[in-house]
Amino acid sequence: MSPKQLEDMYDAVIVGAGAAGLSAALGLLRSPEIKEMKENGIDPKILVISKLQPLRSHTGSAEGGIAASLGNVEADDWHWHYYDTVKGGDWLVDQDAAKLLAEYAPETVINLERQGVAFSRTDDGHIAQRRFGGHTREFGGEPVKRAAYAADRIGHQILHALWQQCVAAGVSFAEEWYVTDLVLDGDGSRAAGVVAFDTHAGKVKPVHARNVLFATGGAGRLFHTTSNSWDLTGDGMALVLAAGLQLEDVEFVQFHPTGLAHTGILLSEAARAEGGVLRNADGEAFMERYAPGHADLAARDVVSRSIMAEIDAGRGVADPKDPDGPKDCVWLDMTGIDPDHMRAVLPQVVETIEKYADIDPAKDFVPIKPTAHYTMGGIPITTDGEVYRWSGDGTDGTRRIVEGLFAAGECSCVSVHGANRLGGNSLLDACLFGTRAGRTLAARIAAGPVDDPMAADDPETQERDDALSSAVDAAAGTRQADLQVLLDSPADIDETDADSGADTDDNPYRLMADLGSTMERAAAVRCDANGLETAMTAIDGGLAPRAKALAAHDRTAAFNQEVTAIWEVRHLVALGRAVLAASDARHESRGSLKRNDFPERDDERFLAHSMTDARGAISWQPVHIVDVPPKKREY
Ligand SMILES: Cc1cc2nc3c(=O)[nH]c(=O)nc-3n(C[C@H](O)[C@H](O)[C@H](O)COP(=O)(O)OP(=O)(O)OC[C@H]3O[C@@H](n4cnc5c(N)ncnc54)[C@H](O)[C@@H]3O)c2cc1C
Repeated sequence: MSPKQLEDMYDAVIVGAGAAGLSAALGLLRSPEIKEMKENGIDPKILVISKLQPLRSHTGSAEGGIAASLGNVEADDWHWHYYDTVKGGDWLVDQDAAKLLAEYAPETVINLERQGVAFSRTDDGHIAQRRFGGHTREFGGEPVKRAAYAADRIGHQILHALWQQCVAAGVSFAEEWYVTDLVLDGDGSRAAGVVAFDTHAGKVKPVHARNVLFATGGAGRLFHTTSNSWDLTGDGMALVLAAGLQLEDVEFVQFHPTGLAHTGILLSEAARAEGGVLRNADGEAFMERYAPGHADLAARDVVSRSIMAEIDAGRGVADPKDPDGPKDCVWLDMTGIDPDHMRAVLPQVVETIEKYADIDPAKDFVPIKPTAHYTMGGIPITTDGEVYRWSGDGTDGTRRIVEGLFAAGECSCVSVHGANRLGGNSLLDACLFGTRAGRTLAARIAAGPVDDPMAADDPETQERDDALSSAVDAAAGTRQADLQVLLDSPADIDETDADSGADTDDNPYRLMADLGSTMERAAAVRCDANGLETAMTAIDGGLAPRAKALAAHDRTAAFNQEVTAIWEVRHLVALGRAVLAASDARHESRGSLKRNDFPERDDERFLAHSMTDARGAISWQPVHIVDVPPKKREY
C-alpha cells in the first residue's frame, strides 16, 4: 500500500512498522483526544512509513517471549521484575523508566492478548510463561516464569495482531518507502518532517509533518555475525545524528550467547529455558562455574563472556561443518529435552538447527557462538517518548525536548535496559513505550491539529508551517541531487576507472561485510583501546571514503535496491564511528561493554549515560537512581 497522493502537511508521520511503530499508531488513534476530535468531524492526518512491507519487520522474528510478572508464582510481583531489570542493566538503568516497564508489563501483555495475540496456554487456560535469563530464578523452590510465549514465535504473533488492528483502524501506510532524512527547523528545536524515497516510483518525496516518530529498529548489521535481519542498519539512529542530535549509551551492544555457528542465526534463549545446557570441548556444563546461582540462564552478557573465556582457554569446539576450522564455538546440548516437547515448544529453534546445521538436536550437540543481537542505546527519549537534546555535562546538564520529535522501540533509549537488556524486555519496551509515545503525540495533535479551521486561520502558525515546509523541500532537493549522483556515476562500467583511481567495482554489500568484520574484531563481546583505535582508523581512512564514493551499478531509480543499500551502509558507517567513540570514552567494564584494559566497573566516574554526537563528542548524563542503590552484580 502507498498513499496515492501525499498530504500537504501531516499531523504525525511514524517511521517504522514493527512492534513500536504499530503500537504508537494504535496508542495515538485510540486515545480519548483523537476519538473526541473524530467525533467533532476532525480527522487527523497520519502516515506510517516503512522501508519494508510491515509484516517483514524484524519484530516478526522474535522467538522466546515477552516479559511480565503475571503472578504464576505468588511471591513474584512486578517489583521483582523491576529489580531484575535494574540489576540486569548493571545499574545503568533509569529507574523511573524501568519501574514503568515492570509495573505496566502485565497490562501490556493482557492488552496484546485482547488484540489477538494467540499465546500458548497452560493446562488450566492461563497464558503460558517460561523462565528467562537474568530474571529471578525461584521463590521457595518454585521457578519464576516471566516470559509469556507463543511456542517460539511470539514476535510473529505480536506483529500480525498489531498490523491487523492498524489495518482495521484505517491506518494509512507508505510501504517500501525509505526515509533518507530527518528535517528539523533552523535551530534544531522542532521537527519539520522527513524526506522519503518511494522505491516503487523511484522518486524522492518531501513529507511535511508537525510530528515525527522514529521506530526504525536496531543496528545488528554493524557486526558480521548477527541475529538481525538485513534491514537492521540503524537508519533512525544515524538520521538523528545527521540532524545534529545525540545518541545515548550507544556503546552497549548485546551479544546473544547462542547464535548458530557461523550463521549468527538466533537459537532462542527459550532453548536453555526448556532445559538446554552449554558445554565446552570437555563436555563440562561450564556455566555452573561462572554463575552458580543462575547457570545457563544468567544474564546474556555474563553467558556470552563465559563462552568467550572457554574458547580463549582452548576449550572451544570447531563447527562440525568445518571440522578443521577454528575452535571458536561451544556446544548447546538439548538432548535432555523430551523430543516431543521440544518440537511442540521450540519448533523454530529445531527447524533452524535441522535446516542450517543438518543436526538433530534431540540426538547431537549443536555448535553455537555469541551473535550481535540488540542495541541497548539509541535515540534519547523521555518516558513519554519525546526526543531530547542533552546539553552540559553531569549534574550541570539539562534535557531540552525537540518539539514534535518522538522515538520508540529498539532505535530509542528510554534507558530501561542500561548496559545489558534482559530477555523478553525488548518487545515489552517496544509495545509499552510505543503506546505511551502514541498517546503523547495524540495530546499534541489535539492541541493543534492540521485541519483545525481555528489553527489554519492563525497567521503565526501559518508562517511557522511555511518555514518548516521550505526546510523539508530544501532537504528533498538535496537528496534528489544525491540520488542523481548515485545513478549517474560510472559504477556500471564495472571495472577500475584508471583515470580517477576509483574502484568502480565496489558495492555496498562488500562494504557492509568489511565494516562488519572491522567492528567484530574491535568490539564484539570485549574490547580495548588499541582495537578501538585500529577500527576507528579503518573507518576514517578507508571505509568512510569508500561509502562516500559508492555509486549504483544500474541507472534505474525504481526498485533499485542498491541505492537504498548505499544509504544503509552510509548510516552504518556513521553509527559505527559513534559506537567506537563511546566505547573508547568509557574507561570501565559494565554490562555488555567489557574493556580488557579497564576490567572493573567504576561507579564513581561512569555511573552515567554517554551522549554522543556525529563528531564523536561525548558528554555525560546522570543515571536516575530512584529505589535501588548500585551494588555488585552477581548471578
Ligand atoms: C531473532 C530475534 C529474536 C528476538 N527475540 C526476542 C524475544 O523473544 N523477546 C524480546 O523481547 N525481544 C526479542 N528480540 C528483540 C525484539 O524483537 C526487537 O528489539 C523489537 O521487535 C524491535 O521492534 P521495533 O518496532 O523497534 O523494530 P523492528 O521490528 O525492527 O521494525 C523496524 C521498522 O522500521 C522500518 N524502518 C527502518 N528504517 C527505515 C527507514 N530508513 N525508512 C523507513 N522505514 C524504516 C522497518 O521497515 C521496520 O518496519 C529478538 C530480536 C531478534 C533479532
